[in-house]
Amino acid sequence: NRSNQPILTTTNVIKDFSGLRALNGISIKLYRGEILGLIGPNGSGKSTLVNLISGIYPITSGKISFEDHDITNKQSHYIANRGIIRTFQDPHNVANMTVRENLLLGNHRLYQSGILSCTINFKRSLVEEQEMLVKVEQIMDLSELAHYADDQVGNLPYGIQRIVEVARAILAEPKILLLDEPAAGLSETELKLLIQLIRYVKSRGIPIVLIDHHMEFVASLVDRVFVLDSGEEIYSGDMKGMKQNKQVIEAYLGV
Ligand code: ADP
Ligand code: MG
Repeated sequence: NRSNQPILTTTNVIKDFSGLRALNGISIKLYRGEILGLIGPNGSGKSTLVNLISGIYPITSGKISFEDHDITNKQSHYIANRGIIRTFQDPHNVANMTVRENLLLGNHRLYQSGILSCTINFKRSLVEEQEMLVKVEQIMDLSELAHYADDQVGNLPYGIQRIVEVARAILAEPKILLLDEPAAGLSETELKLLIQLIRYVKSRGIPIVLIDHHMEFVASLVDRVFVLDSGEEIYSGDMKGMKQNKQVIEAYLGV
């Protein structure tokens, strides 16, 4: 329901990397329950925006708000702990741990921010431990990872590693999920599993920012899109309007 206040807002966000303006005054709103597609050619600033929202890089100017809190330039562990969970273009699983172990770690939001190593002993009650195991099995069923439960993640096909990355993020019980090119390098079968996972997140009312180049995949999932080109907003609206938008067509055709 879009009538609500947005859960996440960026206002006039600018990001400079030593002389290069990667984002130039980006304002986005993410509403509860929606999937917002974030698209644009390579180097247009999509990952940078996710890196700013998740506190990986400091912003040059502008503001980021989450549930009425100003989270501008808060540290990544603070942001993850509040429930803004992101995945990376290159999966951040622990290669020498099994799928199940990686998913169990996922439940710890702080782990998602990458600041805790897997050697840290998370304190949980026995009941919490049991609930966690049930959730992990559910997610493994949904994404058909059960078959790989006891395999070391590093030995699995790349597409499966990417699905583990997304499944792990879901187990952190995000309030917002930021997915950076989750479909890249996936086979058709793996893509179907990923779509199942994303639909599951949406069915639970969790809003998603979905970055991807795969237009059919994006179109099948998103409610709206926001298009970047060279750090500038060139379109915001529905997919239909996007396909007819002159600036978008030019950005993609390189005219
Ligand atoms: P996208 O994800 O849309 O492909 P990025 O956000 O990764 O684009 O990059 C946007 C621009 O910012 C590119 O020109 C890229 O080279 C630059 N950039 C991204 N991260 C860094 C960094 N850590 N240091 C310097 N430049 C960067
Ligand atoms: Mg990127």
